[in-house]
Amino acid sequence: MTAAALSTVLRKHLCTIELVESDAIGIVGVGEATIPAIHDFNRKIGLDEQDFMRNTRATFKLGIEFVDWTRIGNAYMHPFGRYGYDMNGVAFHHYWLRTQQLGNDVPYGDYCVPPVAGKYGRFALPLSDPRSVLSTYSYAFHFDASLYAGYLRRLSERRGVLRTEGKIVEVRLSDKKDVIESMRLENGNIVFGDLFIDCSGFRALLIGDALGVPYQNWQEWLPCDRAIAVPCRNPDVLDPFTRATARSAGWQWRIPLQHRTGNGYVHCSEYISEDEATTILLGNLDGEALAAPSTIRFVAGRRARSWAGNCVAVGLSGGFLEPLESTSIYLIQVAIMKLIEHFPDRSFNALNVAVFNEQINLQFDQVRDFIILHYKMNNRDDSDFWKRCRAMQIPDTLEYRMRAFRERGHVVYSSRELFIETNWVAVFLGQELIPDALDPRVGCLSDALIVDKLDKMRQAIRRATETLPRHDRFVSEYCAADTGVAAAGTSSR
Ligand SMILES: Cc1cc2nc3c(=O)[nH]c(=O)nc-3n(C[C@H](O)[C@H](O)[C@H](O)COP(=O)(O)OP(=O)(O)OC[C@H]3O[C@@H](n4cnc5c(N)ncnc54)[C@H](O)[C@@H]3O)c2cc1C
Repeated sequence: MTAAALSTVLRKHLCTIELVESDAIGIVGVGEATIPAIHDFNRKIGLDEQDFMRNTRATFKLGIEFVDWTRIGNAYMHPFGRYGYDMNGVAFHHYWLRTQQLGNDVPYGDYCVPPVAGKYGRFALPLSDPRSVLSTYSYAFHFDASLYAGYLRRLSERRGVLRTEGKIVEVRLSDKKDVIESMRLENGNIVFGDLFIDCSGFRALLIGDALGVPYQNWQEWLPCDRAIAVPCRNPDVLDPFTRATARSAGWQWRIPLQHRTGNGYVHCSEYISEDEATTILLGNLDGEALAAPSTIRFVAGRRARSWAGNCVAVGLSGGFLEPLESTSIYLIQVAIMKLIEHFPDRSFNALNVAVFNEQINLQFDQVRDFIILHYKMNNRDDSDFWKRCRAMQIPDTLEYRMRAFRERGHVVYSSRELFIETNWVAVFLGQELIPDALDPRVGCLSDALIVDKLDKMRQAIRRATETLPRHDRFVSEYCAADTGVAAAGTSSR
């Protein structure tokens, strides 16, 4: 992603780009679910959506369904879409809460297109006409991360990037040990550079091993430290959403692609053994496993600074947050875009570097709080893991946001953040954080009028989603890979 973006925006006379990677090591390759921000990235590097989807065997994603997070049997979606509409300057959720007080039990998700379309396995591209409810949602992709990496590598090479295959065995620093001068490869070749971008994954060869930038450990809030991943055959229906199902010591992801479904159990090794976690994962697949399960170890957290000296960490070398909200590829994208915005000259202006670091840290910290919210607000009593998560102290920043919502239904966020009001409300209400008081301006409309308006919204959404095609059919027609769409696609819903 970094080479593709830099080779698109930087002219060759300004700099040359050399991508060093090792096929023998390979990539993590399990990052398969994205969020709508990926459109900005793909557009900036000039990808054609259908070509990209065919080449990465992608499907569409309308949100993430959280199953069993509050209690076993409960489910809600964090969708890429707007709920109802605001009235008299008052946010929609206040009206929905008012109807709940009046005895209405229609789920919040029924006022938003993605949860309804998801329930019936339907998808189409959103419309641009703002008068249609079908303009009120967005979408992202599930794709094969290894195919995406290869696709972008070929694109980068066409744009002049020199790719060097080889294993880095030594990173050489300046006398003061604050700047990287070169890297030695296993075959003895030396790679020199002015700016080094560390995309070496969890190894963090440059920013961590060589420059020694500390890693801030967030395990006290996000104790999961392992994931077991396994692909399986697709079920009959290709759902247009990611599913995250809470399990006894973590949660399981399910990501449907055209040719297979990606699955994994993110768990905390203090509460479950690897064998037990593997058994649970394999016992909860939609189809036959297509490979042996593999284990990935990690520590939630981030570098104190993503940029140090002449080195910028992009990707897992800069930090890791579990994929509960599919944010890692987004954080990569932000780091790349911020790097372009703050592109250095050889003097490496200190303030420029500090501003970059501040902005990256803000992004990580906000995503961290959003993920912690899911754990903190659980009501499960069936395992020590969930009890521990409910009892944990949370960051002050999250405590403040939760109090603001609990006491008055307010959402505190800044426009520089990824998650805005609609995202926070979806998860607050989904996790059953119900405000004690509503915006008093709700009383400006009569209860009868509120009930009537919400009913009309719900019906409009239901009617509109019924007109959408099935997701698997849409994928087949829009972007089927050469291998075709492997969901059986025979059952009708
Ligand atoms: C369990 C799990 C699930 C995930 N799910 C999602 C998800 O759903 N959505 C999402 O957005 N993100 C997800 N992610 C994150 C996503 O996988 C990563 O952000 C993404 O793969 C990018 O990783 P990376 O490029 O930083 O590191 P890697 O993929 O590990 O790539 C490292 C690169 O460095 C090279 N390298 C390493 N050492 C050397 C060396 N000595 N010499 C030469 N080259 C070297 C390797 O060859 C490789 O090319 C997930 C991550 C994990 C662990």
